[in-house]
Amino acid sequence: MSSDRTERMRQLRVAVVGAGAAGLCAARHILSRPDTFAPPVVYELTEHVGGTWFYEERTGSYDNGLPIHSSMYRDLRTNLPKEVMMFPDFPFDPQLPSFLPHQEVQKYLERYCQSHCITPHVRFSTVVDEVRPVVTEGKGPMTTWEVTSRDKSGSRNTETFDSVFICSGHYSDPHIPSIPGLERFKGKVIHSHSYRHPEPFSGQSVVVLGAGASGLDISLELGRSNAQVTLSHGKPTLPFPLPYGVHQATPVEEIQEDGSLRFLDGSITQAQVLLLCTGYNFSYPFLEPARLGLEVQEHLVTPLYRFLMPPAFPSLFIIGICKIICPFPHFHCQVQFALAVLEGSVALPSRAEMEEEAQGEMARKVERGVQLRHMLKMDKEQWGYAQTLAQTGRFPPLPPVTQSLYEEVWRQRQVHPQNYRQLNYRLVSDTQWEQQELHAGE
Ligand code: FAD
Repeated sequence: MSSDRTERMRQLRVAVVGAGAAGLCAARHILSRPDTFAPPVVYELTEHVGGTWFYEERTGSYDNGLPIHSSMYRDLRTNLPKEVMMFPDFPFDPQLPSFLPHQEVQKYLERYCQSHCITPHVRFSTVVDEVRPVVTEGKGPMTTWEVTSRDKSGSRNTETFDSVFICSGHYSDPHIPSIPGLERFKGKVIHSHSYRHPEPFSGQSVVVLGAGASGLDISLELGRSNAQVTLSHGKPTLPFPLPYGVHQATPVEEIQEDGSLRFLDGSITQAQVLLLCTGYNFSYPFLEPARLGLEVQEHLVTPLYRFLMPPAFPSLFIIGICKIICPFPHFHCQVQFALAVLEGSVALPSRAEMEEEAQGEMARKVERGVQLRHMLKMDKEQWGYAQTLAQTGRFPPLPPVTQSLYEEVWRQRQVHPQNYRQLNYRLVSDTQWEQQELHAGE
């Protein structure tokens, strides 16, 4: 890219798909380097910034027929404290408690957007339909990108860029597991993507499938709202007491002829609602994966060098594809690394070496017995990963306090899922945090 740039002697043009946290972070860092980059074009299909954090009461589709993007539910409070959730260079309001209602995160992202003058660069109500590489031969092969978008009026427009940041999120396309006989279920089947609040389920028998963050949270909400909840999951028995009205069960094996649910341990139940908290599929309808040398499966996109770019086209960056991460700090590091690549200050290995590294990483996970659907879960690996990006991209690493507080909260969540959010934390330094007074009610 650096030799391309010298040849061009002009600012690089970058397209950003999506104005959620990842897209705003990309725009903020692009705007801070005007010597190298022209202001970005940020395409956003909704009328708002914030992505996931913009709460939509509606479910189904927008007026233009596109599916609703956000999976946010009304009473969600963050599962990370604001002290680690924040972009490292942009704190939340210090007056706020550590665990926030979703509205506060939306306000934070709007403030981030205003503070960094991003809004004028966002094309609202504009959906990206296609991102296509165009390879031309000069002194060597050179890639530009054609981005085709459609605005509110339906008019299509194709523009050319030097690089594209895909920041379209991956919590929008519901994953529906294949349960034998699902069509025989006589009650209502919904996915957590379309769950908004517990009141409609009051007094009903609900089987919640999956005990990830949303499954557990939603079960507790439903239990408090007087639903009879069976939380069906494949984890070991949860090591904490569940509230009155919420019971655990093994995974659902089959829906029987009479519409009842049979669980793995042979027990049988009838239910009025089957609520699938079974996660989301990766979905990039605007990309042609094979052309990019990529394979997009329900839970996996490969090969991605540094979980970020296709080795065949290292000027395309997919931000935030990993799971079990601290999202905003993770975006902050990936974006700065990607910009260092475009600036030419990171020398990339050859395509073959990048492919080998990305595939080697996956092969090692397979050897360790990691299932396909868990391959992009980072968990403890996220800290070494962020550190490597910072070292290679020559930007400040995440402060150690982010990791230590994240891990403390993760531990609290495992043992006190109902009340870990009542704790408050304060950052004392880059390496230290302290726990503050408990909220009233604890
Ligand atoms: P998104 O927020 O999904 O933004 C993507 C944007 O791209 C959207 O605005 C969308 O409209 C736009 N877009 C998509 N396709 C197109 C297209 N073709 N053309 C134009 N625009 C497009 N993280 C935390 O840190 N703490 C939490 O407590 C937490 N809780 C969560 C709870 C729920 C229910 C969910 C679903 C996620 C939660 N997360 C949490 C993770 C959250 O997803 C990330 O924090 C972060 O918001 C993801 O940002 P993003 O920009 O990658 O994606």
